[in-house]
Amino acid sequence: MKKLALVCHRSAKLSFVFEAAQAAGIELVLIYDTTESAPAQLPAVTSTWQLPVFDEPQVALEAFAAGVEERGIGGVMTVREEAIIWTALAAKKIGTPGIAPEVAALARNKYLMRQAFAEAGLRSPGFRYIDNPEDLSQVHALGLPLVIKPLSGWSSTGVMLARSAEELPGLIKAVWDVQSKDLARFYDQNKAVGLVVEQYLPGKEFVVECFVDIEGVHVLAVGDKGQPEGPWFEETIYRQRRDIDDPLIVALCEAAREGVKALGITMGAAHVELRLDARQQPYVIEIGARIGGSGVSHFVVEQSTGVSFAKLCMTAALGLPTPALPDVLPAARVAANYIIPLRGDGRFSGFSGLDKVEQHPETARVVTFFEAGHISPPPPAFGGYPGFIFSVHASDEAANAYHQWLDDTLSIIWNQ
Ligand code: ADP
Ligand code: CA
Repeated sequence: MKKLALVCHRSAKLSFVFEAAQAAGIELVLIYDTTESAPAQLPAVTSTWQLPVFDEPQVALEAFAAGVEERGIGGVMTVREEAIIWTALAAKKIGTPGIAPEVAALARNKYLMRQAFAEAGLRSPGFRYIDNPEDLSQVHALGLPLVIKPLSGWSSTGVMLARSAEELPGLIKAVWDVQSKDLARFYDQNKAVGLVVEQYLPGKEFVVECFVDIEGVHVLAVGDKGQPEGPWFEETIYRQRRDIDDPLIVALCEAAREGVKALGITMGAAHVELRLDARQQPYVIEIGARIGGSGVSHFVVEQSTGVSFAKLCMTAALGLPTPALPDVLPAARVAANYIIPLRGDGRFSGFSGLDKVEQHPETARVVTFFEAGHISPPPPAFGGYPGFIFSVHASDEAANAYHQWLDDTLSIIWNQ
């Protein structure tokens, strides 16, 4: 049996990737950072290995290379956005398949990524790089509204919408603060920090899950991500689209493929986020060189197509052959994820209707993150994600109906 090092994935609640490894008969060595405690028992994980991945990446790389043989490790992979560059360097160092570290660096920097898309001729919103929050002279030419984002963030952390010229300077400072406080530790130490400011795309949001092999870019699933409108862009839904011949879905797949090629991702997963403009034209927002959503993308692909996305990625990282895939994988069923909306703030005391949700035949899994007593701050601060409801349906219509039913059935009980 081959052993794979999985870097810094520790969500025991979102355990899809661990379960997929177990089903595929792949043993995992779970690498965890020095600031983290030893992970709990997880499926497929036969040993753990603590390395200073984030604070001393070079030291961690040397230790990894020195210990790989003794541990019988045949490949390395991550689903953690912050660990993508380290994982690419680690694969290169031990001579197993991975994306080039230069490609990983592009995928971790929103300004370089935007430049790569624009240079490759992809449709692109106007964008600027800001390295000084006091100097906004570059930004005025872009017009309004604008989206402000940390250079190397993830999960929409600190991403904000500015509607007016008056609020822009304050919001730029706020995003700058989030970057310095919460994200700096995960930045490439040799590179400058900064923000990207870009024109707001007002249309719907989508995701295209891709797997890249020697044949090229394969689309494994397309998902509707709702229409987050700011001021924070928290996640709302993920509802797969099974109508892959619809002209819009075809255009989204085409744009996603071009984006993956523009970055130079040559193997493994690519989680491509797109958004439509006012004329319904798709734009690539960003690409994660990993399975999306800590394994949520694996759930969607596997439940709808029967293909284990995580197994494909792990097999490729181990240097083993993967099966031939079509350009677009047809979906027999529709998988979905519903992010329980906050609809309030204050002290969380529980969910109302969760028992009904658990009993619904189309519900696949319920994962909750809030514990009783959790405090969610009022807007505009981001209140957090209370939980996810995963489901599987016979049709796009059934998935829509189920999410409407959740809107009516499930709510949070807040105590002030
Ligand atoms: P992160 O890496 O933090 O997820 P993204 O660039 O993906 O950063 O932005 C987070 C979210 O912000 C997106 O999912 C989208 O909802 C919104 N967003 C980002 N850029 C734009 C844009 N140009 N127009 C409209 N919405 C955007
Ligand atoms: Ca994103």
